[in-house]
Amino acid sequence: LASRLHHPSPSVVSVRDRKIGDGSVTVMAGPCSVESRDQIIEIAQALKQAGAHLLRGGAFKPRSSPYSFQGLGETGLKFMAEAREATGLPIVSEVMDIENLPMACEYVDMIQIGARNMQNYPLLRAVGKTKKPVLLKRGLSATIEEWLMSAEYILSEGNPNVVLCERGIRTFETVTRNTLDLNAIPVIKHLSHLPIIIDPSHGTGVARYVSAMSMAAIAAGADGLILEAHQSPETALSDGQQSITPDEFEQLMQRIDVLSRAV
Ligand code: PEP
Ligand code: MN
Repeated sequence: LASRLHHPSPSVVSVRDRKIGDGSVTVMAGPCSVESRDQIIEIAQALKQAGAHLLRGGAFKPRSSPYSFQGLGETGLKFMAEAREATGLPIVSEVMDIENLPMACEYVDMIQIGARNMQNYPLLRAVGKTKKPVLLKRGLSATIEEWLMSAEYILSEGNPNVVLCERGIRTFETVTRNTLDLNAIPVIKHLSHLPIIIDPSHGTGVARYVSAMSMAAIAAGADGLILEAHQSPETALSDGQQSITPDEFEQLMQRIDVLSRAV
């Protein structure tokens, strides 16, 4: 079902009134984690102003350490919904388990399946039984074939609204947090009809490299980007080192605008 052979024309996934995969560049942006009502509403307004199309923000966080901030849970989703009210931006947020899926579906416009859950097959089947658009991130060490098979789990349950997200893979390199596999863009475009967006924030792990890799992703034909942005990256509760400021986001949006009209 994910293959181009069975579906030659590119799929377009609608998240409220935003169409992903229609030839335009969709930009999702927001903090790694929702930290407070004020934080998410303030950043949502700045990002909307600068031209973002969707708001991201984690309420359930898959942290490497159980002692790190784990997210605000349902309260975080409520704050995200308030930020949507304030800005009109559709919202995307990660769901980590089946238990919280029905509750999360009442708030979010798009469900994010994180890299660590790409092969959580019961969770994939459960989101496949909903009609919500799904942002399926590539696993930390997943091949493209495995990633497409995970998409297949969702599609085969009846949910056609899958958007793939390349977020960097584990390699021997340590200067960057992950190695952003931009090969995935032409490969996915060849093998599949599903839209693909790029996450240069997790893909590099370093805010100063985000802009260059965003531009590269668009030049290579990505359908969009998901970017971590924070009003004060140095005090962010997660992923501050890879978060850009609203000013940097605005500058990047201007560059994206010029480039996306050229490609
Ligand atoms: C995130 O988007 O903040 C996140 C945890 O992403 P990933 O699953 O790609 O690590
Ligand atoms: Mn993050």
